[in-house]
Amino acid sequence: MKEHIVIVGSVALDSITTPFGKINRGVGGSSVYSSLAASFFSPVAIIGVVGADFPGGFLAKLNKKGINTDGIKREPGKTFFWRGKYSWDISTAISLDTQLNVFEKFDPSVPEYLRASKHLFLANIDPVLQKKVLKQMKPRKSGGFTALDTMNFWIESKKKHIGALLPGLGALLINEAEIRQYTGEHSIIKAARQLLKKGVKTVVVKKGEYGVGCFSQKGMFFLPAYPLEDAVDPTGAGDSFAGAFMGYLASSGKITWKSIKKAAAYGTVISSFTVSGFGVNGLIDLKKSDVDKRYREFVELVHFEEVRRIGG
Ligand code: AMP
Repeated sequence: MKEHIVIVGSVALDSITTPFGKINRGVGGSSVYSSLAASFFSPVAIIGVVGADFPGGFLAKLNKKGINTDGIKREPGKTFFWRGKYSWDISTAISLDTQLNVFEKFDPSVPEYLRASKHLFLANIDPVLQKKVLKQMKPRKSGGFTALDTMNFWIESKKKHIGALLPGLGALLINEAEIRQYTGEHSIIKAARQLLKKGVKTVVVKKGEYGVGCFSQKGMFFLPAYPLEDAVDPTGAGDSFAGAFMGYLASSGKITWKSIKKAAAYGTVISSFTVSGFGVNGLIDLKKSDVDKRYREFVELVHFEEVRRIGG
């Protein structure tokens, strides 16, 4: 059996308004976006909880994509609910309402047969839950990888708990505003350096439509976003970036600075599909052939050859 990437994160119902439309109580959540994205590269298993109001058929859809949902509990009560809106520049989400609901009392339990999985993604959710899942996993085997994502909501309320998860982390994925908030540094370079010093091996800073920066002891590296004519809803872009990033690294077998760069390019490509549809619509029917086609286009787009002037 191929090893799963175990992902813990929110499974949500989202009500989203952007300048281009709205969606009411659509399925979302950090683990849903990230597992859909990762599933193009590697088998994935979600650990999470849903309430009685969660559409049952959706889990079956995930299963059809090879996503294991044995670790998703269904509890009486309401599913995690998030209401957000974006203004005209659709860069930052404004959270209008966050109801943890069944996540409030959730006690995650990783099925025994998944505990030895090589890769773990602690997607955006309460860092206390992220830690519980981390502790249940067997120590990462060589070549294994743990990554973490978080957001302003948890930085405000549980910064210390996030800090405890950083030492030894393979990658931290965080957006530009959040890394400034977390470190108190305005310079992204200084902020990333501060986190590398805490023992994070790679810091990935997401900058929305301006792309992404990766920082490690090897140096730094930047990619633009894929230029989209019709970006309609950025919800889940960060989560899908992270899922594809993890998925590619897990499938490549080797974590090197080179594979990290390629993983960031796949993250960029997959998140561009997410942004082009409302909720999970941009991802749910996406085909691997479309991903590969856009990946090749993207590589062409960023390809840079220095023009040497010979003889002046
Ligand atoms: P992203 O746009 O990638 O940053 O993530 C959007 C997703 O994050 C939405 O589907 C929300 O349900 C989910 N989300 C919003 N707030 C939280 C929170 N406090 N904890 C976990 N997930 C959240």
